[in-house]
Amino acid sequence: MTNDQAFSVVVVGGGAGGLELACKLGRKWGAARVALLDANLFHVWKPSLHEVAAGTLDIHQEGLSYQMLAHDNGFTFVYGAMTGLDTAAHEVVVAAIEDAGQEVLPERRVRYARLVLAIGSVSNDFGVPGVAQHAFSLDGPHDAERFRLRMLRLLSLADVSKAHDASAGLDIVIIGGGATGVELAAELREASAVHSRYGLRQIQAGRDVRIRILEGAPRLLAPLAEDVSDAAARLLRQRDVEVVTDCKVVGVTASGVTDAAGNTYPADLCVWAAGIKAPPLLAQIGLPTARAGTVPVDGQLRVPGVPDVFALGDCANCPQPDGRSVPPRAQSAHQQADYLYRLFRLPEGSSLDAQPPYLYKDHGSLVSIGTGTTVGSLMGNLFKSTGFFVEGLFARMMYVSLHLMHHAAVMGTMRTAVLALARFLVKRATPLVKLH
Ligand SMILES: Cc1cc2nc3c(=O)[nH]c(=O)nc-3n(C[C@H](O)[C@H](O)[C@H](O)COP(=O)(O)OP(=O)(O)OC[C@H]3O[C@@H](n4cnc5c(N)ncnc54)[C@H](O)[C@@H]3O)c2cc1C
Repeated sequence: MTNDQAFSVVVVGGGAGGLELACKLGRKWGAARVALLDANLFHVWKPSLHEVAAGTLDIHQEGLSYQMLAHDNGFTFVYGAMTGLDTAAHEVVVAAIEDAGQEVLPERRVRYARLVLAIGSVSNDFGVPGVAQHAFSLDGPHDAERFRLRMLRLLSLADVSKAHDASAGLDIVIIGGGATGVELAAELREASAVHSRYGLRQIQAGRDVRIRILEGAPRLLAPLAEDVSDAAARLLRQRDVEVVTDCKVVGVTASGVTDAAGNTYPADLCVWAAGIKAPPLLAQIGLPTARAGTVPVDGQLRVPGVPDVFALGDCANCPQPDGRSVPPRAQSAHQQADYLYRLFRLPEGSSLDAQPPYLYKDHGSLVSIGTGTTVGSLMGNLFKSTGFFVEGLFARMMYVSLHLMHHAAVMGTMRTAVLALARFLVKRATPLVKLH
């Protein structure tokens, strides 16, 4: 089924970058010209997924319905996963939607004048045996929710077992000491303290919920400055999180993780957070691919050799003047969405080649250590590659402001940003976890 009308812009992927672009364009041009396609029905900002996994953020409260966003921002929402691309016809193929074995929406084709690929990334297990079968990853809200429900079940079992087995508890192993692994460990520790205060009274969080990070590099947060990494390690130690560095994982089983030195770490729950790659779809549909399966783009975020197709965010490989690629971060996706918004609004007939290329502005890197604090560096561009070190409540407020900026971009007003700030302050004052 093909919609005869060609949208001026079709954005595939309503995440950190794609959703912002669709909302901004929709507010300018309306639903007849702008379409957003996503495989899910609702949006959760990906940097919040460690909170969903820990239960400190409820996806049913936080998730924003794409249909509602489409209505409020004036774009057309197309529900379904992109499965193909017909570059000659300028059409995106969207998979049929099934429910309980019944097809509820047929395969469709959506015609575009310009297409923006913003389909993010998925975790990369580098072929390590057992990861696909036994480890969780935080690729999307459903993965985070699945982890949370499994953790609750195991915590409840451990709580009951405690009456006859003093050693009962939960071993959680997080593979990868980058931002995702560090943020998840700290959030899980905070959540476990609330769990034991609430219903699970036999469990003592620090003693019975054993959280361990295994990192292959000599230190946590290896791409960031050493003072940030040291601060993160100190704050995790204070929270009874064990950090093992120089640890190359070679296998995961249902009960543990093995490293190259032959050590085995018991694991009731294991999370793989040691790398990402672009979704395999990009290569499958015949697009050129670069490092980790990403699609190469030029300075104007165009895919070379594929007319009218652009890419942004984690799925794009955008080189910068220093030879490095734009890092896969929410702030990159946000900046690139802004860049394309301005590019697409140039008067008809403007030459894109004449436009200044997209340049990544590094405003710093902040890593959340639970609801109370954050560590990181600010203004990387101004202070060369490292930025200046920040820690504590100020850093926490800066971290939260990134999320608020996303809310403001998708709602077009500061109203929801203020509501989100209020929620953050309440959460900080009375930490809650979702127990069902
Ligand atoms: C736990 C965690 C914490 C993080 N913390 C930070 C942080 O503090 N700061 C920071 O800058 N970055 C952080 N990141 C990284 C950040 O989330 C990503 O860099 C950012 O979300 C990338 O944005 P994006 O728009 O490229 O893709 P995403 O936000 O991942 O969105 C991709 C969208 O595409 C959709 N999609 C995928 N495939 C298809 C398909 N075939 N058809 C249709 N739709 C599809 C998905 O449903 C999704 O909505 C974190 C990531 C994680 C997992």
